[in-house]
Amino acid sequence: MQNITILGSTGSIGMSTLDVLARHPERYSVYALTAHSRVEQLAQQCLQFKPQVAVVGSPAAAQLLSRLLQAQAPQIEVLHGAAALCQVASASACDAVMAAIVGAAGLEPTLAAAKAGKKVLLANKEALVMSGQLFIDAVKQSGAVLLPIDSEHNAIFQCLPHNYQRSPAALGVEKVLLTASGGPFLTRPLETMDTVTPAQAIAHPKWVMGRKISVDSATMMNKGLEVIEAYWLFGAAASQIEVVIHPQSVIHSMVSYIDGSVLAQLGNPDMRTPIAHALAYPERIASGVSPLDLTVIGQLQFSRPDLQRFPCLKLAYDALLAGGSAATILNAANEVAVQAFLDEKIGFGMIAQLIARTMDSLPLCAVTDIDMLLEQDRLARQAVNALIS
Ligand code: NAD
Ligand code: MG
Repeated sequence: MQNITILGSTGSIGMSTLDVLARHPERYSVYALTAHSRVEQLAQQCLQFKPQVAVVGSPAAAQLLSRLLQAQAPQIEVLHGAAALCQVASASACDAVMAAIVGAAGLEPTLAAAKAGKKVLLANKEALVMSGQLFIDAVKQSGAVLLPIDSEHNAIFQCLPHNYQRSPAALGVEKVLLTASGGPFLTRPLETMDTVTPAQAIAHPKWVMGRKISVDSATMMNKGLEVIEAYWLFGAAASQIEVVIHPQSVIHSMVSYIDGSVLAQLGNPDMRTPIAHALAYPERIASGVSPLDLTVIGQLQFSRPDLQRFPCLKLAYDALLAGGSAATILNAANEVAVQAFLDEKIGFGMIAQLIARTMDSLPLCAVTDIDMLLEQDRLARQAVNALIS
């Protein structure tokens, strides 16, 4: 029996994870569930999955949750705040942590899980993008097992040799090919991009996801963050990480080898596949995803990304090549700009412009510890907020 903590259980990935766990009660129990503000939804999850601990964002939310659990599940310990997230991510009673908080808020608990040597199921790509080497070092030092949940990285992981150790050349890997659907604006006339509304941006053609990652998919910053994520997960150079537009989202990514072989992982676009894969790794368990019928899909298409249409993708490659604090600054500026777009304070096209201007305005530095990292994150948020107001 594995005891699981889900950081961000009320989100899209969190709910898909619980859906998979519910299919295998003999294999998994839930140690802790966490949510930021959706207390009623978390209370429902607590009643169904009976975790030992539940964590929310504020004292008021904790009070409400305790009240909702009082009658039927008073034994569940209710905690709140950032320190409690780190506590449930590193507790000795927990075996594996699903890191599914969105954005930088997930960094510290995800890092706490890595430092505590847990099996870390990483959906929260922003945590790895912003902390890079610090995160990888924490995993190495503790002996944690880091398994990718992002569908592309999970696909690449499945297409790599079993003894792969973040060194492509050693095992004949030439390139990793990250597929991208292209999002909702792949063919939208460029001159109309400034009239894009938040509702249009979050209406992804193939995946149902949280709002932030949906906007990231529309700008293709999501793919940019995934390029940086692939760099850290697989140790591939920027020149070995290629993005391929594939609107059907059936091939989730590929690995090409020096002998000319290209291995791909295919499936219906449903996050329960990578979640089930990582949960049970190296075994396989049922996920609830319907089988892929290629004869219904008929055609698979591929093209190169247009960097004029998707400047955020280029900004992410720039940040990767620049190194140091660049990816931390890129990620922070993007989070603030996306929220400003969702709040209708800026237009869609401004997202990339604000990130570029923030990256230009801040000097790069080496990031050697978590305090420096958080300071770079704070400076970038301050800079982009100043540009917005
Ligand atoms: P979501 O918005 O649906 O859910 C986010 C979760 O994080 C919620 O449970 C929320 O309560 C929690 N949260 C938000 N802010 C918080 C804060 N300040 N403190 C503590 N908790 C907070 O997001 P999602 O789509 O499930 O994405 C989660 C992560 O997984 C993101 O990093 C995303 O990039 C990644 N991811 C998602 C998908 C997908 O299909 N949804 C695919 C690949 C990767
Ligand atoms: Mg992805």
